[in-house]
Amino acid sequence: MPNVRYQILCFPFIKEMLKSIPEDDSCMEWPRSRTRQGYGKVYANGKHRRVHCVAYELVKGPIPEGIDVCHTCDNPPCFRPSHLFLGTDVENAADRDRKGRTNSPRGEARKKKLKMIRSWKCGDYG
Ligand SMILES: [Zn+2]
Repeated sequence: MPNVRYQILCFPFIKEMLKSIPEDDSCMEWPRSRTRQGYGKVYANGKHRRVHCVAYELVKGPIPEGIDVCHTCDNPPCFRPSHLFLGTDVENAADRDRKGRTNSPRGEARKKKLKMIRSWKCGDYG
């Protein structure tokens, strides 16, 4: 059996909202409770989960252990799946930067962002 961390059925409201994704590229902001950092949060199976992580799993598939889901829009309450990507993608990009344009301002910005992303965890919190 795969390692099922929670029951997807616990999130009918998120699923419902994901059925009506806006046609433009605007953010979908979580209308219910949020974490101190501004992320949407849900509580299920005795655990708090961040809504954008749940949305990612529902639409794009499981998040690898220890990997975080990031926003392309830098909008914490947003859980629009097309605005979400795995932290590994940033790490890959940062890796490319290290090999190519070392010391580029963009590389520095990425490193900063990467550090920030590493401090966001998708699993349990607080
Ligand atoms: Zn967004």
